[in-house]
Amino acid sequence: MPKQFRTVAGRMVLDWTLEAFIRCDRARQIVLVHNPEDRALLEGSEILRSRTDIQRIEGGATRAASVRAGLSVVASPRVLIHDAARPLVSPSLIGTVCDALSTNVGVVPALRVTDALWRGHDGRVTEAEDREGLFRAQTPQGFHTDEIRAAHIAHPGGAADDVAVARAAGLDVAIVPGEGTNLKITIPDDFDHAAQLLIERRMDIRTGNGFDVHRFGDGDHVMLCGVRIPHGRGLQGHSDADVGMHAVTDAIYGGLGEGDIGGHFPPDDPRWKGSASEIFLRHAVSLADDHGFRLTHVDCTLICENPKIGPYAFDMKIKMSKIMNLSTSCISIKATTSERLGFAGREEGIAAIATATLVRA
Ligand code: MG
Repeated sequence: MPKQFRTVAGRMVLDWTLEAFIRCDRARQIVLVHNPEDRALLEGSEILRSRTDIQRIEGGATRAASVRAGLSVVASPRVLIHDAARPLVSPSLIGTVCDALSTNVGVVPALRVTDALWRGHDGRVTEAEDREGLFRAQTPQGFHTDEIRAAHIAHPGGAADDVAVARAAGLDVAIVPGEGTNLKITIPDDFDHAAQLLIERRMDIRTGNGFDVHRFGDGDHVMLCGVRIPHGRGLQGHSDADVGMHAVTDAIYGGLGEGDIGGHFPPDDPRWKGSASEIFLRHAVSLADDHGFRLTHVDCTLICENPKIGPYAFDMKIKMSKIMNLSTSCISIKATTSERLGFAGREEGIAAIATATLVRA
């Protein structure tokens, strides 16, 4: 499959590239020039499916013929020509090229060559090359539309790129600083590198909080963070009334912006009567996974006078660790009394408060 239609960091290379131009807010018109044989592959593009304002033009047999086809429908006085295989182009680089077009007919982003350059033959260095004054060209390359269109029509063919076409027509092309991350996907390793850079760019860190209270009633034990603790009374609730696990579950839902336990497991639904609360927690964790988030930390505080939590805290961490598939070192379970004040102080019930951290990477 051509590289621009392959997936990188969960998305088609072409879509990353199109999004950069959509988000930069500088492009009034986007023209996608493609190989006629790739028409079916374009249907895989989320952006092309959801937007009707991107013009699709079938390209020609050569790069120059494709650029000419694209230029024929460009209405704006200035145009940027970009390679779809550069999905990491940043809105700021697009802006820099656009800005430079107010004082230049042609603009190309480029990086100075900083590595030593050698010629080689048969696996041996044959000659050192002077890198002074050498640049690595990137795209988008910007031009005044009428000038580059005329230069393409006049060119006999065989040019390496649009800069060569422009220069053959006597147009002056200015260099602006390119970006090291504006990678052109060429070899298989480039996919891994591009994925890493794209993932870093879209990293999303969330914290959610949860709070829950359950009332004491008859019973001989309480369930707290998945651990059964013998006690003179039990906690009342539709499920097993595990107030700690409920607070953690709600913290995860909170981080995802996905409501709360009551919304996902309505208390009037007989299916959940007496059920172990870990089904709620497992659901929240799998929902996080569906949203592309990884749970990285949970902190839960139980508020009660009795039972004493300390002796059970480590078992709770292990139990929670298994359910959430999270290391015990990333789980905090602690307890406090409320100094005999309020409902918790009068031992009418137990409260729990929790925070969950989620990272999309
Ligand atoms: Mg509850």
